[in-house]
Parts: sequence; C-alpha cells; structure tokens
Amino acid sequence: MRNATAKTLTVELGERSYPIVIGGGLLDRAADYLRQAGVPDKSPLMIVSDDNVAPLYLERLESALSGGGYRVVSAVVPAGEQSKSLTVYNDLVTRAIEAGLDRSSAILALGGGVVGDLAGFVAGTYMRGIRFVQVPTTILAHDSSVGGKVAVNHPLAKNMIGVFHQPELVLYDVDTLNTLPPREVRAGLAEMVKHGLIWDREFAEWCWNNAPRLLDLEPEALIYGLERGCAIKAQIVSRDERENDLRAILNLGHTLGHAIEAVAGYGRYLHGEAIAVGMAAAALLGEERGGETGLYAETMLMLRALELPVTLPEDMDTEALMAAMQRDKKFREGRMVYIVPSEIGRVEIASDVDADAVRDVIERLKE
Ligand code: NAD
Ligand code: MG
Repeated sequence: MRNATAKTLTVELGERSYPIVIGGGLLDRAADYLRQAGVPDKSPLMIVSDDNVAPLYLERLESALSGGGYRVVSAVVPAGEQSKSLTVYNDLVTRAIEAGLDRSSAILALGGGVVGDLAGFVAGTYMRGIRFVQVPTTILAHDSSVGGKVAVNHPLAKNMIGVFHQPELVLYDVDTLNTLPPREVRAGLAEMVKHGLIWDREFAEWCWNNAPRLLDLEPEALIYGLERGCAIKAQIVSRDERENDLRAILNLGHTLGHAIEAVAGYGRYLHGEAIAVGMAAAALLGEERGGETGLYAETMLMLRALELPVTLPEDMDTEALMAAMQRDKKFREGRMVYIVPSEIGRVEIASDVDADAVRDVIERLKE
C-alpha cells in the first residue's frame, strides 16, 4: 500500500480547522505530521490504544514518534465498547497525571471508534482540554474520527457523557486496515455508503460499483472511498458543528439501528450492520412517503453488494424496537425525528412520521 499517494483534506472550522491525511505508510511518518499540525515536542504525548490494536501497531507509532523527538507514554485498554466507561476514563486521567501531561501535551487515539471516543473525551476534559490526534485503524472510524464528537457511555445509555472536541489532525494509515476482521470491514463500509446515500448519489453508486474492490481492501479504492466519505462528513460538520440542524442527517439509519443494537442485546449486531438495516427501513419509509420510485430497491442492492444485512429476524419484537427508539437521543421537543431519504443522495429531517408507518416498515423488513 505504500505506493498509494497520501491525500489531504481539511475540515474547515475557522481557527479549529484541521487536516485529514489518508494514505499508506503514514504511521512511520507520524512525527512529521504532528509537527506540521503544530503539536509541540516539549511536553509528553500519551497514546491510547486497545489490546487488539496495540500488539499490531503501537510499537511502530511509539518508535516513529520518539525517533522524531517526541516523548511518549502509552495506555492500552481492553478492546470493546465496555471500555467507553467512566472507570476506564478515570484510569486514563490517572495515567496522564502520573506521566506529567500538561496543557501543551497531546493525546493520540490509535484504534477504532471506541478508542477515538474514549481518548478524545480524556483529551477534551483533561485540564479543560488539551490537543488531540486521531489515528484511526478501522473503516468505521472514517466517520467517528472526523467531527469532534467524543464521549463515554453511561450504563443506562450510549454516548451520554461527552463533549465536542475537535482533533488537531486525523492521520489515517490505510495499511492498518489489512488486519481488520472481515465483519468489521463490512460494518465500516455501511457508514461509507451512508455518506453517499445522504449527500451524493454518484458516490453511493461508486460504492455499489466498487463493492468487491472495497471488500478486498484494494488500496486505491479504499483511499478514494475513505477520502470521499471523510470529505462529505467534513462538509456537513463545517456547516453545522454542533448538530443544530444539518448534522442530524448523518444519523440516517441510526434511530432504528440503535434500537436494533439494544433490542438484540449489545454485541449481537455490529453498529454498521444495525444501521444497514436502519438505512433499508428508512429507504422503504421514504418511498412510501412519495420518494423516488426504486429508492428502496436500489438501496437494498447497494447494501447487499457490500454484504450487509437488510432484513430483520422474524422474532424481533416490533414494540420493543418502537420503545427503544423512544429512548433515543434523536427525540426532540416531544417528537421523534427520522432521517428519511427522498431519493438516493438526498434526505429530509422529518418530525411528522407516523408511528404506525414505522411499525409497518419494521414488519415488512422481517424475513
Ligand atoms: P472498535 O473501536 O471497537 O473497533 C472494532 C474492533 O476492531 C475492535 O475489536 C478493535 O480492537 C478491532 N480493531 C481495530 N482496528 C483494528 C485493526 N487495524 N486490525 C485488527 N483489529 C482492529 O469499533 P469501531 O467500529 O471502529 O467504532 C465503534 C465506536 O465508534 C462506537 O463506540 C461508536 O459509538 C463510535 N462512533 C463514534 C462516532 C463519533 O462521531 N464520535 C461516530 C460513529 C461511531
Ligand atoms: Mg454511526
């Protein structure tokens, strides 16, 4: 993958703007990129990773940084969603204090969305906020590493304790994706095609046509897909950093998706798998509400090409899903908000969706 050229794009947020660099062999050049991004070397850095990713890539990142004049300490947390907790957060703050991190230090997240959200929340709150660098190692993290939403979970609800804290740099070394389990690859591609479905028909169709190349982790296809996915997310975040309105469209498929994750029991569905089903449901709802003909059929074909699920098991309880959706954050001023496609590449934020229409769609998705 080393021959593939690195691409740089910018998240435009005034003085908080930052680059996203996507390419092969970037871990080894991390010190240069950090320096370019203005991370000083006089204070220690802390890398946070998980126990799947650390054995694969931590040493390389550590030696690239220390070889480039940075002092580095590392903290490795157990892999998995349960590390997005206040307990693990507290352990990391302890480690940061003990290692002498100060206001000029940076925290680096080496891993997927779990490590990114957790380390970002530490960076956003330690001494009221220090520098943060995302080094994503999953496909899904092209979504989670851009946009500055960082959080840990509360036992009663996901992502309930968090802040907005934009990184200084997103350093996306696509070489790391070669070790991703195939199921995680597919789940990450769900968020990639989502960016097409909400914003850019051409990109959605590109994902569809290039599904085999993406599933095979072909470098050129991956870099293009991640670049386009990040660029769409960056555009949306630039226009609405704090989710007052537009940013909500990134939640396509997520209202039902989160409910599926909760009702099936966390861990049964990967997040990307659950939102694939959610996006199929949203397309059906959109077509029923007068969206373009073929919207649902075409969405199904796209998701199936990426080997993602688009149906629900017969025994999944519709009322349990409805109740779980009510508890979701996407519930504003007493009304459920759904992101509903009107055509491929265009969605509306709808607060007038009838609960029975949603029930009907859920029933029709059952095998
Ligand atoms: P993850 O971080 O749990 O990674 C998935 C699995 O792959 C883990 O077991 C991890 O150890 C392993 N892994 C990671 N990189 C690897 C590699 N290169 N090789 C081998 N194994 C590797 O999950 P994820 O899907 O990346 O992220 C999900 C999290 O992201 C959720 O907590 C979700 O809430 C969050 N998220 C946040 C945002 C946001 O805007 N902040 C957006 C979307 C999702
Ligand atoms: Mg998501």
